[in-house]
Amino acid sequence: MDIIRLLWIIRIVWAVEDVLMDSTTATAELGWTIYPSLGWEEVSGYDENMNTIRTYQVCNVFDASQNNWVRTKYIRRQGAQRIHVEMKFSVRDCSSIPKVPGSCKETFNLYYFESDSDVATKVYPAWMENPWVKVDTIAADESFSQVDLGVGMMKINTEVRSFGPVSRNGFYLAFQDYGACMSLIAVKVFYRKCPRIIRNGAIFQETLSGAESTSLVSARGTCVPNGEEVDVPIKLYCNGDGEWLVPIGRCVCKAGYESVDNETVCKACPSGSFKASQGDQQCLQCPINSRTTNEGATNCICRSGYYRTDSDPLQMPCTTVPSAPHRVISSVNETSLGLEWDPPKESGGRQDVVYNIICKSCGSGRGSCTRCGDNVQFVPRQLGLTDPRVHISDLLAHTQYTFEIQAVNGVSDQSPYSPQFTAVNITTNQAAPSAVSIMHQVSRAVDSITLSWSQPDQPNGVILDYELQYYEKYTAESNSSLLRSQTNTAVIRGLKQGTIYVFQVRARTVAGFGRFSGKMFFQTMTEDEYNSSLQEKLPLIIGSAAAGVVFLIAVVVLIIVCNRRGSDRTESEYTDKIQHYTSGHMSPGMKIYIDPFTYEDPNEAVREFAKEIDVTGVKIEQVIGAGEFGEVCSGNLRLPGKREILVAIKTLKSGYTEKQRRDFLSEASIMGQFDHPNIIHLEGVVTKSTPVMIITEFMENGSLDSFLRQNDGQFTVIQLVGMLRGIAAGMKYLCDMNYVHRDLAARNILVNSNLVCKVSDFGLSRFLEDDTSDPTYTSALGGKIPIRWTAPEAIQYRKFTSSSDVWSYGIVMWEVMSYGERPYWDMSNQDVINAIEQDYRLPPPMDCPNALHQLMLDCWQKDRNNRPKFSQIVNTLDKMIRNPGSLKATTPLSSGVHLPLLDRSTPDFSSFSTVDEWLDAIKMGQYKENFANEDLTTFEAVSQMTMEDIMKVGVILAGHQKKILNSVQMMRAQMNQIQSVEV
Ligand code: AMP
Repeated sequence: MDIIRLLWIIRIVWAVEDVLMDSTTATAELGWTIYPSLGWEEVSGYDENMNTIRTYQVCNVFDASQNNWVRTKYIRRQGAQRIHVEMKFSVRDCSSIPKVPGSCKETFNLYYFESDSDVATKVYPAWMENPWVKVDTIAADESFSQVDLGVGMMKINTEVRSFGPVSRNGFYLAFQDYGACMSLIAVKVFYRKCPRIIRNGAIFQETLSGAESTSLVSARGTCVPNGEEVDVPIKLYCNGDGEWLVPIGRCVCKAGYESVDNETVCKACPSGSFKASQGDQQCLQCPINSRTTNEGATNCICRSGYYRTDSDPLQMPCTTVPSAPHRVISSVNETSLGLEWDPPKESGGRQDVVYNIICKSCGSGRGSCTRCGDNVQFVPRQLGLTDPRVHISDLLAHTQYTFEIQAVNGVSDQSPYSPQFTAVNITTNQAAPSAVSIMHQVSRAVDSITLSWSQPDQPNGVILDYELQYYEKYTAESNSSLLRSQTNTAVIRGLKQGTIYVFQVRARTVAGFGRFSGKMFFQTMTEDEYNSSLQEKLPLIIGSAAAGVVFLIAVVVLIIVCNRRGSDRTESEYTDKIQHYTSGHMSPGMKIYIDPFTYEDPNEAVREFAKEIDVTGVKIEQVIGAGEFGEVCSGNLRLPGKREILVAIKTLKSGYTEKQRRDFLSEASIMGQFDHPNIIHLEGVVTKSTPVMIITEFMENGSLDSFLRQNDGQFTVIQLVGMLRGIAAGMKYLCDMNYVHRDLAARNILVNSNLVCKVSDFGLSRFLEDDTSDPTYTSALGGKIPIRWTAPEAIQYRKFTSSSDVWSYGIVMWEVMSYGERPYWDMSNQDVINAIEQDYRLPPPMDCPNALHQLMLDCWQKDRNNRPKFSQIVNTLDKMIRNPGSLKATTPLSSGVHLPLLDRSTPDFSSFSTVDEWLDAIKMGQYKENFANEDLTTFEAVSQMTMEDIMKVGVILAGHQKKILNSVQMMRAQMNQIQSVEV
């Protein structure tokens, strides 16, 4: 109600009047009905504008009891509910009339009578109130005093009265005079209505006002086209005076339309502009890089190649992907890397550029680059870097990596293209090894302790040796002593009895020392402890006395075999079980290998040396190779309480015989006895379920020969020597264990992701079986022999010793330095045997340092006693690593000096008459034309060719270049020999 009152106050004026009757517009007599006949009188006159009008006058003031009526004609209501009557009249002032009686009046009465049709007559309705309804008594505001009814002199009053509700089809009006002197100049009858209007964005149709002057008629508005109501339904009230009150609610233009012409029209946004939501706001120009496709757009779509994120405001320009970061600076520090770059030149118009780092490792040697594993650390993080820098650590040592630095922003994922990036290729350096984690006591005595420890988790290269630091627990650390050990075992002598010592160990590679392990405490025996321990062992020692003596001799012999050069000695093929019982006590760290076939039941050897693994902890992932007895797979092993590790799993194929099972497992019984960083480590065996498995550590880079072939020319000489050093250290350990490998070859060396080489393949079976399906192994007198790798005495009379392993080691050196070339190329086995017999030896591979070839030649000494021992080989290689300058010199070609041994894979050039024939013979016939084009048609000219010349001729393949170069070198050497013979 209060609102309504308020609305009354705030009115919109402009009421519209519809006239039902107007006396002034009458052109002829009005002809209204008069009663009695001497009362009212119709008279012509003039209005204020001097237009002719019809008026009614009466002036019977001197006669008492006047009752004069004049009645209009029937007036049709036309739907109006309330009727307004405007009367213009003049009244004579009674006091100005001389001698006027007291009955003189200055007022008159207005009546109305409703009827559905024009039914009035001279007598009907009766001339009296009721049936007539009185509207009001009308008094003049102003009267006049001159006896002059001329219009110009009169004071004209205008009064308006209204009545209602009216409901019949029409009505009459009547004016009753009861003694006035007056003139009814004009009567206008009308009703009021609120007009059609557009308000607050809505259209309101014409609305008739209500029956009472105070009534409000509510009208519902409809929004203009493309307008929408906001909140409440839009309404206007029309009051009794035909006035609209202030509207409730409003309409606004919907999205894509703006309000024009005073909110009366919602107009579509012109093309190139948009309006995102309904409301009063105007259309906006499309932001940069966007456009509309038609009028009335609610947003502008981005041009091709430009995008918006969900949270980008529509008035923001469309943006695009950033360009690549640039000016990348990388700094490699061992196995860590810092990368810094400049932000992209083009940010795409956005402020939210971040960077992602994609890491690919290219050094695995197995095919192309692969994504780095989870172990690589990125600080602050790998993806979504806000600053243009990152620190990457825990990379593998000397591995080639590619890092792609991507720039991405909020719209990169909408682009159909992958983010732009800048790639950097880096190669990590040698890194110091990680710390040794576990050290344990092997044995102790009154004045010594024997310790062994595990290899660091991340050797990051070939471990040259270990340094052990120790001191008495209750003295200062500064009094500590140092001890070097080539293996992961050391005997610390000269200790005080019954004293606790603190030990720490660290590994060394060419990159230097790693961190020391944590401190560990071990105590020497007291005299009493020692004596009582002796008593416990006495029966055993006595029981084995004879064998013990033999063993002592064997140990002495063994030390000589493995560590002295040139001395007269007999190789030990000692495999007495007694060693096993005594070795632990006699000489710590001096364990001797036991041939599993010396056990009555070889299964006992398996139980003794190989841990049985619960098959539920083994998960086979994929097949990686074919072994002698079945598939070799990679997989995972989870042992109780330990974290999962990668393993290789050798399986025994089904349908095996008991002998095959025994032979298969013999490898585990052998491997299980070894514990050295350069010997493949046995995790255990599964024998209680099928398939029977041998589980070893996993070597990511597979076998050395194929690894080298895949990475031809990729390593530095130091890296190659590092690999050779590892193999030699493993072989020294085997030699120390009195184990003769018999099949040392690059194919039997495995390489892990740190480039650590480990000796593997301890199967015995191939030497025993008479199966010639594999051409590498040639059957000879009851066993198969890998001719190209085997020393002549082993081929001839099966004299397999650590010294014959040294010969094989020389071949491995040649394989490594030539990146996996086949020894003696395509010569037949018999040709190889003959060549060796005639003192021919393999020439240095391309770029092979002299010192290394010399070491090979030493290994290939005919007299096995003249060959170096593995301990010497390790020392020699260590010296080379420490002094890389010694590896600079490579074999001078055609020096004329005596080449001790020659390659016979290339036929003697003198047996050919043309260079073309010679090319055919070395299977390089496809280059005949190339040679001819360069005028290389004489042996003289060909023999002078260098690698550069060979490349110039158009030989692109590295293998062919090598082959031709080798043959040229042979030719040159053969020429020199001919010359020296002639001299
Ligand atoms: P083997 O029967 O030992 O000659 O193994 C056959 C092939 O399986 C080898 O040439 C390697 O490619 C692969 N292999 C064997 N042992 C492992 C291992 N521990 N880690 C990775 N690959 C291995």
